[in-house]
Amino acid sequence: MVDSPRILVVEDEATQRTLLVNYLTRQGFDATGVADGTAMRRALQRDEPMLILLDIGLPGEDGHSLARYLRESHPRVAIIMVTAAGDTVDRIIGLETGADDYIPKPFEPRELLARIRSVLRRSAPAPVASLGPRIRMGRRVLDLEHRVLLETDGTEERLTASEFELLKLFAENPNKPLNRDWLLEATSHREADSFDRAVDLRITRLRRKIEIDPAHPDAIRTVRGVGYVFVPPIG
Ligand code: CA
Repeated sequence: MVDSPRILVVEDEATQRTLLVNYLTRQGFDATGVADGTAMRRALQRDEPMLILLDIGLPGEDGHSLARYLRESHPRVAIIMVTAAGDTVDRIIGLETGADDYIPKPFEPRELLARIRSVLRRSAPAPVASLGPRIRMGRRVLDLEHRVLLETDGTEERLTASEFELLKLFAENPNKPLNRDWLLEATSHREADSFDRAVDLRITRLRRKIEIDPAHPDAIRTVRGVGYVFVPPIG
């Protein structure tokens, strides 16, 4: 089972809803769609998503009212409002009702993706406080304070800034498959696309540094179709 971020699409137009759900699923999210507020409330009772893509023009209870309800009853769920084209009033009210962002229709899928990632990053919980200053990763130990890898004999190996950030993300999310696009964005501070292979190259370098057998990686494993997962050593 892959632990992808869950997104709920609330959109009354069936074609658009299906397109969005399919697109988000292809991008590695666990996306589902509902047609109105009633179905949204039902879905929330079953399981709370990380983010809700909320259309404003809905039959019955509209997006503004649902956003207010969400802020009160599900404060951890991030909201991106989908506004009607050029409707500035909607945009402003959308943010006032507690949405994290808004996107006007029609939008480019890539733009939507960028906003979703940015909102998810902002709403991600702070790194676990119990994370010690040193974490065993493969045959090495990551020293978070000094930003180096340690050998068992105490020898230090320096890391580039991006290598350190990658290892730190893995250390903070043990046993959790991390989407390679997300890893790239979180560590490169720029948009993906042309740097698509950058994460893979960095992972290859890091494996040489920490794996016992880099050809058969055990600490940073590949999750097909998703990205990578850090598996802490046992004991
Ligand atoms: Ca609509």
